[in-house]
Amino acid sequence: MRLRWLAPTLGIPLLLLLLFATPLCAQRLPPTATPEHYDLAFVVDIGGRRFEGTETIRIRIDQPTNRIVLNAAEIDFREVTIGAGAAAARAHVSLDPAAETATLTVANALPAGPAEIHIRYSGVLNDKLRGFYITRGDKRNYAVTQLESTDARRVFPSFDEPAYKATFAVTLTIDRGDVAISNGRVISDTPGPGSGQHTVKFATSPKMSSYLVAMAVGDFECLEGAADGTPVRVCTPPGKKELGRIALESAQQILTFYNAYYAIKYPFGKLDMLAVPDFAASAMENTAAIFYRETALLADSTTASVGTRKNIAATVAHELAHQWFGNLVTMQWWDDLWLNEGLATWMETRPMAASKPEWNLAVDEARGTHAAIDLDSLQSAHAIHTPVRTPAEIDALFDTITYQKGAAVVRMIERYVGAGPFRDGVNAYLQAHAYGSATSEDFWKTIAATSGKPVDQILPTFINQPGVPIIEVSPLTCTGNGQSTRATFGQERFLLDATDARAAASVWQVPACLEAGASANSTACLVISAPRLTLDVAQGCVSWIFANAGAQGYYRTAYAPEILRALAPHVEDALSAPERVTLIGDEWALVRANRHTAADYLTLAAGYGREPVSGVLGDVTERLGFIHEYLTTDVTRGQFETFVRTMLRPLFGQLGFSLSTLPPDDNDDRRSLRAVVISALGTIANDGDVVRQSRAALDRLLAGGAALDPTLAESVVHIAAQHGDERLYDALTAAAASTTSPDDRDLYFLASAEFRDPRIIDRALQRTLSSDVRTQDTARYLASFFDNPAARPRAWSFVKSNWAALDPKLRIYHAGATLARALDSFCDSAARDDIRAFFDTHSLPGVTGALNQTIERINNCIDLREKQTKPVSDWLRRRQD
Ligand SMILES: [Zn+2]
Repeated sequence: MRLRWLAPTLGIPLLLLLLFATPLCAQRLPPTATPEHYDLAFVVDIGGRRFEGTETIRIRIDQPTNRIVLNAAEIDFREVTIGAGAAAARAHVSLDPAAETATLTVANALPAGPAEIHIRYSGVLNDKLRGFYITRGDKRNYAVTQLESTDARRVFPSFDEPAYKATFAVTLTIDRGDVAISNGRVISDTPGPGSGQHTVKFATSPKMSSYLVAMAVGDFECLEGAADGTPVRVCTPPGKKELGRIALESAQQILTFYNAYYAIKYPFGKLDMLAVPDFAASAMENTAAIFYRETALLADSTTASVGTRKNIAATVAHELAHQWFGNLVTMQWWDDLWLNEGLATWMETRPMAASKPEWNLAVDEARGTHAAIDLDSLQSAHAIHTPVRTPAEIDALFDTITYQKGAAVVRMIERYVGAGPFRDGVNAYLQAHAYGSATSEDFWKTIAATSGKPVDQILPTFINQPGVPIIEVSPLTCTGNGQSTRATFGQERFLLDATDARAAASVWQVPACLEAGASANSTACLVISAPRLTLDVAQGCVSWIFANAGAQGYYRTAYAPEILRALAPHVEDALSAPERVTLIGDEWALVRANRHTAADYLTLAAGYGREPVSGVLGDVTERLGFIHEYLTTDVTRGQFETFVRTMLRPLFGQLGFSLSTLPPDDNDDRRSLRAVVISALGTIANDGDVVRQSRAALDRLLAGGAALDPTLAESVVHIAAQHGDERLYDALTAAAASTTSPDDRDLYFLASAEFRDPRIIDRALQRTLSSDVRTQDTARYLASFFDNPAARPRAWSFVKSNWAALDPKLRIYHAGATLARALDSFCDSAARDDIRAFFDTHSLPGVTGALNQTIERINNCIDLREKQTKPVSDWLRRRQD
């Protein structure tokens, strides 16, 4: 599954995940029976918001028993029998709502061996975006499913744990004008049984987990294509299918790429991708029937920004990767969720990198690694492999650690063993467990066996323990009359709170690759396995090394000051773009941990003024934005703005503020770079000229005038809104209502959180309670106000005073965690204490972990502000002298 955190001016898809809040205490099913096949027939009544279900489960009973326990929730049982034909015995049903189970009991013991459970029942088409639910289109309602992680049990009584794989044969009776989509292709479609109905039968699925079953009913229209002989469709509510072109073309390229990479070709016969108007996650990988929220699948191919095209391609690539990692081979239990999500996140950038090298996906990957490391640097970090039992615990695992740390660790191993041997290992893993389940241990043992390298020693240190190592590099020494250069490497756990005593307690087996100065083409890889290690790192005498060559290591690096000084003049020519982002990212982390000063960071960052890659510069300007807001004073803010203007104006001069005609040599990354530079000048540097041009360009655009480069439009909208008036707010609101492209609507809509005028902020906040903001967007919309210092306290007051109305909207997938994380933009103890006190009495399920992280981050910010404001002032003064 996938959920995107918007980084609008950069177009960098950082992932968050899914979470269906369920405050219930589920237990594992007792191992008395195993399902082999489900026949599922539904009569779907969209108008009546209900369905009738008829189910036959073929099971195998291990030992004689007179009771079978299934998962079921919100199911109204009508009739249950166990056994076939005349031998069928009526079963008594007892429900345990807390455990979400139904116990079926028969009078006489069932013998070991095969048996059949027959169930007639009914259920509700709910409005909670999980299970079988109603989604509201422009003209009518639709019925769709979302079953991960533990909601199949709301649609059909089932052995709803991932390891209980079975085949599924689905039949849907629906209204005459509607079509249906499910995992299999349609094998028959007959009128009746009622006069206004028809009945659609789907091919039996391959063996799969219950959370992958999918159904959708409505008047969908589809774009059709194919890849390697597999039919591919993008389906939408009427009138939107042309917006599926980018997704269809991406899916065809990606499927072909995967078929070439994997030893097992796409095994599910057909591929449908459906845009759903209300969808809690970004997308869900249901076998051969992938469902998406509209912004993750649909956009006008003639006006979509680089960020939008990248997000659609990444989401499609992620969900398609799951067809192997997750659907074909599934984690044995949710504690190994990273085998689904980490591997799919690792895989998603590969087909994109192959087709769009100018997107610099390696930079996005490095930034993804940093996002994971940031979270892993907190005391409240959890290990990738974490025991989970209840639905709330399971859903809380869908986070940056599982996705981005999982992917980062896989990239590190791939680099360490080599791409070829790694691919062999992946294929051996898939072949060994196809249509079955696997554990972390299965994965690392297979890669170790195919590569002949100690991956089974390395991976457990990154999967089973929380935290991230920092590699400290000693000053370099020249040995043996200048024959070689020697360094000592130390490792410990990196924590933002460096006083934490646990720092020294963990040891990793760290595969590290070194690049040595002067002889820059010499790269050597080794495993740092001990807390301290002294090594010869280069032939001859060199003055610097870079200890994360390729930027694929999952660790921070701290260099002795003399190495940094020697490296600084070579950053531009000797380091690749992902290495540059890693160097500056590590420097910022050292500031946050109070090991270096903000002045050290600014000295390094000032050298990035000519940075040609958008993702690298975007990383730097994001930190500059932080320093601008939190580490400057009323006295120094203007000086800081002057510094940023001086730093970026030359690049702006080269890129220009091109409105409708782009230079012919502009590729996607150059467009993104222009958007980053203009955004930083307009929002951080307060550049009057850029602000005026942005507002004028946006006014022309909204009046139906000259088109803007869509990638630049994102920056322009944000700058204009930050400096905007009520007239602009109204114009953006009208534009959001009239546009047909979901990405434009999103852009205009979210911009309303960026105004500074309190009256406008209050109007925009009030909108949260109206039908303008769908439940799927509530948390994300609210969260965007907390990025805006002028709106932050008002947004928090609004949340507190409207809690009763907001609470139900914040109980969907990951919404509570999204809001809790947004609160980390506060940087004072009064707000921190208020947040803590509020959530003590207004909790949301699954929000505890995110809240702990937020409190820790606020504390870090308070500490940072106290210690680093003066170094920033001093640095700015020295710069002026
Ligand atoms: Zn996923």
